[in-house]
Amino acid sequence: MKPNELLAAINEFGSPLYIYDAHKITSQYNRLVDAFENVSSLRIHYAVKALNNIAVLQHLKGLGACLDTVSIQEVQLGLTAGFAASDIIFTPNGVSLEEIENVAALGVQINIDNLSILEQFGTKHPKTPVCIRINPHVMAGGNTNISVGHIDSKFGISIHQMPHVLRIVENTEMTINGIHMHTGSDILDIDVFLYASEILFENATHFNDLEFIDFGSGFKVPYKEGDIETDIEELGQKLGDRFNAFAKAYNKPLTLAFEPGKFLVSEAGKFLVQVNAVKQTTSTVFAQVNSGFNHLIRPMLYGSRHEIHNISNPEGKERFYSVVGYICETDTFANNRRITEITEGDVLAFDNAGAYCFTMASNYNSRLRPAEVLWKDGNAILIRKRETFEDLLHHQIPLEDIVSL
Ligand SMILES: *Cc1c(COP(=O)(O)O)cnc(C)c1O
Repeated sequence: MKPNELLAAINEFGSPLYIYDAHKITSQYNRLVDAFENVSSLRIHYAVKALNNIAVLQHLKGLGACLDTVSIQEVQLGLTAGFAASDIIFTPNGVSLEEIENVAALGVQINIDNLSILEQFGTKHPKTPVCIRINPHVMAGGNTNISVGHIDSKFGISIHQMPHVLRIVENTEMTINGIHMHTGSDILDIDVFLYASEILFENATHFNDLEFIDFGSGFKVPYKEGDIETDIEELGQKLGDRFNAFAKAYNKPLTLAFEPGKFLVSEAGKFLVQVNAVKQTTSTVFAQVNSGFNHLIRPMLYGSRHEIHNISNPEGKERFYSVVGYICETDTFANNRRITEITEGDVLAFDNAGAYCFTMASNYNSRLRPAEVLWKDGNAILIRKRETFEDLLHHQIPLEDIVSL
């Protein structure tokens, strides 16, 4: 998507605007498939929570993807987008037994991550095959916000509790058809990931009816030039070979599954905003844009760094800016960032705005959520209308409508 194409989209659909490059999603998907070409059965479950627009889900379905979901509503979105229930896995954390039962009744693969629910579900539904999420206690990355492998993590069943799992499985006579881990984002070191995988293989040998082994996700994507990213090709080669050896020894056909979110959609997305004001203080120059953490919260929530380009003046001289929002709170997108000279009215483009951006947007400050556009075959296609004031009122009940008062 070139600057002039992005500016044309702003002219057509207004700002702020999310725009996703379908071709980038396709190429990332194909990269992953190609990296694991030596594995005969591969399933890629796209993590819906990263970006849940149904047009995006349908694009991924067209590529052959399955879905990874964390709520019954994500399951329903997937079914609405046209996915078969059998192509969806449900990997919730801390949801009610009832929600899990409702999802299982739809025919979706259940993944259970705690002993209490495993025991209750197995007792009531011993005929429904279940996948278990284990926690191998391997730290990925090192940022405690996104690492879910540590010993006191709320995610997964500790490997140290495996004897308890086996006792539940034996007593309930339930079937375990999959084993899963998701150690959290940012696999920088493939050896760490392979080490965690060994723990998964080791524990997989306890079960005789496995159909798949799910390695979750955590693929790191570059946020700026020169950033380290997960070497998918190396991972495909090494894990693929190891998986094939395990499957051979296991003596039953096994599927290798992944659940990437960020890897598939992060780089495909741009978030476009307009500069309302350029404000000088004694020490800095602020570019104040028509957005805030109500539309893109990752910089404030996780300290994520999103590259920002002035696409209205791409060839201009670079200056230092602090890019801030219009929310009545501190909402700094970027501090002291080198950006080509900004004039009021210019359009700024945020990179890596495909994953965990729109899906985390809110109506804080009673602002409307942006429109979403899919860029495909040279066309900008509207896939979500900008919210309207009526949307803010939808579901609210004014006092004068309450007859009992
Ligand atoms: C969030 C999540 C993913 C996707 O993680 P990414 O870092 O976006 O690839 C995969 N599996 C589970 C269980 C998740 O909760």
